[in-house]
Amino acid sequence: MTEFDFDACVVGAGAVGLACGYGLAKRGLSVAVLERERAIGQGVSSRNSEVVHGGLYYPTGSLKARFCVQGRRALYAFLDAHHVDYRKCGKLVVATEPAELPRIEAIARQARENDVEGIAEIDGAAAVAMEPSLRCVGAIVSPQSGVFDSHGYMWALKGEIEDRSGAVVLATPFEGATPIAGGGFMVRAGGEAATTMSVRLLVTATGLSAQAVAATIDGFPPKDIPTRHLGKGVYFRLTGRAPFEHLIYPPPIPGALGTHYRKDLGGQAVFGPDLAYVETEDYTVDPARAAGFYDYVRHFWPGLPDGALTPDYAGIRPKLHGPGEPQPDFQLDGPEVHGLAGLMALFGIESPGLTSSLAIGEAVAARLTAS
Ligand SMILES: Cc1cc2nc3c(=O)[nH]c(=O)nc-3n(C[C@H](O)[C@H](O)[C@H](O)COP(=O)(O)OP(=O)(O)OC[C@H]3O[C@@H](n4cnc5c(N)ncnc54)[C@H](O)[C@@H]3O)c2cc1C
Repeated sequence: MTEFDFDACVVGAGAVGLACGYGLAKRGLSVAVLERERAIGQGVSSRNSEVVHGGLYYPTGSLKARFCVQGRRALYAFLDAHHVDYRKCGKLVVATEPAELPRIEAIARQARENDVEGIAEIDGAAAVAMEPSLRCVGAIVSPQSGVFDSHGYMWALKGEIEDRSGAVVLATPFEGATPIAGGGFMVRAGGEAATTMSVRLLVTATGLSAQAVAATIDGFPPKDIPTRHLGKGVYFRLTGRAPFEHLIYPPPIPGALGTHYRKDLGGQAVFGPDLAYVETEDYTVDPARAAGFYDYVRHFWPGLPDGALTPDYAGIRPKLHGPGEPQPDFQLDGPEVHGLAGLMALFGIESPGLTSSLAIGEAVAARLTAS
């Protein structure tokens, strides 16, 4: 029987890769997580809204719906157990015109079908009683939604892996892998201490690099690597006092949940992200986009003062669909797709990937250890 250096190698130390490492380490496997950057969580996991999503919007039975609800329940328990900061502030999905009421009613129905706890539909007056600065004609209340310290969460995951004798190896890019006859992979890792190692199981959780990384695995059929689309979203920060306690979300825009309001854990108000398809990974925030934000935000907060928005940061969604195309599900591709035993390749882990991460990690670990 082959002796392996590690039972499992996970490529990528974002929230999802770390959660996969945790899921495997919890099952008693020796795990090495390889990360090309000098710190964990520097990819998509550091450029998002840090919202714990309830799981309202996604088609019932989809991976996004299941993982978001399961992942959210597991996430709050994990944050409690590891003393990571969060605020379960709840969310209002608001209709600002009567024409939007059927859309939010459909979201409420979808949320109940998805088994989201505590969903309530309220009229405009009740919503304004909850948030006096709000303008709306009706709303859904999602009490399970919140904001959290995603970096504290990732540090706690890293600690869990290391407590089980796993390794999270930084500044070490995965450069490719070759299947070993009889099972497993020989992994090539670069960086200052470039090395090779044999592993029985391999997981790729590399966010925006998922396609490029899959292409370095010998035998991965190019036809099974989905096309990558980059969906950029920018954020603007409010100068002044945060106007609402709840998350405030208008109905979703095509391809994303759309520009929303959150009060972050530091008490500051942030608006975003919008959606623009781009060709390159460029994180600049064009101040000219503020004009669209003022128009949009004043639908639900007419009190937004002129000049109060400051460019903040940008994130890029690893999308599998182009503009106008239907938004597909997460892809967790095992041998039934690409034919390589012992490999799980993750694609298109956009929102709600952070909320779903513990459920994704469990699903990946369960599938790899099933036989
Ligand atoms: C604008 C925006 C807002 C969002 N808001 C939310 C939200 O509020 N709530 C929510 O639940 N989700 C949200 N998401 C989605 C969420 O952020 C992602 O689904 C999640 O962070 C993806 O994590 P990941 O680990 O898959 O990817 P990443 O965090 O990108 O991790 C991938 C890692 O792989 C590493 N890597 C790449 N190539 C290699 C290589 N060759 N060798 C070694 N390492 C490599 C990268 O350096 C990186 O650290 C949002 C996303 C965006 C873009």
